[in-house]
Amino acid sequence: MKVFQRIFILLLIFKKIEAQTYNWPIFPPEFVVSSTFGEFRLGFSYTESHFHEGIDIPATTSKSVFPITLGFQVGNMFYNPQIGWVVEVRHYKDDCSTVINEGSRYLHMNAIDEGIQPGEIYCGDAISTNTTFVNNHLHLELKRPYQVPLENTNSINPFTIPALRIDDYQAPIIKNLTKNFFPL
Ligand SMILES: [Zn+2]
Repeated sequence: MKVFQRIFILLLIFKKIEAQTYNWPIFPPEFVVSSTFGEFRLGFSYTESHFHEGIDIPATTSKSVFPITLGFQVGNMFYNPQIGWVVEVRHYKDDCSTVINEGSRYLHMNAIDEGIQPGEIYCGDAISTNTTFVNNHLHLELKRPYQVPLENTNSINPFTIPALRIDDYQAPIIKNLTKNFFPL
């Protein structure tokens, strides 16, 4: 019995140490997604065929974009007319002073806030306030472990984080198959 009590207390301590808050990345939030992680995407003008490395969150009106963790350090960021703004961040714990070995990427914003600069650490700030989006959605990628460059590395399903999970009770429907399918 005592052994079980000790294990239980250790689990409680472990849970407290590991506690980390995650937030939905757009505000005001609408908890819907239009694409999930791992979908196969055929290449077109500026991308090669690939598996979708994140989730897509519809945003047909202006929204603010916040990184999914309160504390974050801005890494690479750039603008591409076809993709919009791309902002990469490294995550910090809720205290905004302890770094975590993970990060995230945000794509398709038409504008980012002037104060957002590479290398700077922020606490609770937006990376974009009242922006519209290329193709009316925000693309979110979760990266763990953190590794530079973030692009095309270490993507994991954002739905593994409960705060980012959308309940989906609909079975997938196969619309078509392609004979040009090559696993990457
Ligand atoms: Zn996407």
